[in-house]
Amino acid sequence: MISVDWSAWKPGDQDSQLIATAPGWLAEGLRNQRINFPGSEHLDLDSVAIIISLGLGEGSAEAAVAKRISKELGILKPLATSLAHFGMALAISQRALGDYQNVEGVKVQWDSAGCCDKCDKNDQKIVESGRSFPTGHQFPPACDYCICCIMPAVDF
Ligand SMILES: [Zn+2]
Ligand SMILES: [Zn+2]
Repeated sequence: MISVDWSAWKPGDQDSQLIATAPGWLAEGLRNQRINFPGSEHLDLDSVAIIISLGLGEGSAEAAVAKRISKELGILKPLATSLAHFGMALAISQRALGDYQNVEGVKVQWDSAGCCDKCDKNDQKIVESGRSFPTGHQFPPACDYCICCIMPAVDF
């Protein structure tokens, strides 16, 4: 019997904080999720990731993390906001999925927030953990302001 606690993420989450501290994590995440924020190519993304990681560890609001990225790294506010949103959503998704990685055959379901046509393509689709959804993503975020969730596909 597999018991899964999807409500495990809470403000001040050390696991998602740790995920975001891996060198190259943010650059790789953007690549894997096929997301490009114009202007981000020239940034020191590891420095951005450190601020995101601290925000996750402290349970900070996204807006506060964006403000800090903008202020400490001199990054324009819109880009800082995009990076903060993407990075926090990514770490939380990865942390949620990480809980399953060793459980064979666990199925997960994409719950689209209606962010875009791409996200809707994945809506309610069920795959084995670690496999790709119809858009090619293994987990959200799939677009710039994606707020989709990944949930366990539970047999009731
Ligand atoms: Zn979307
Ligand atoms: Zn989405």
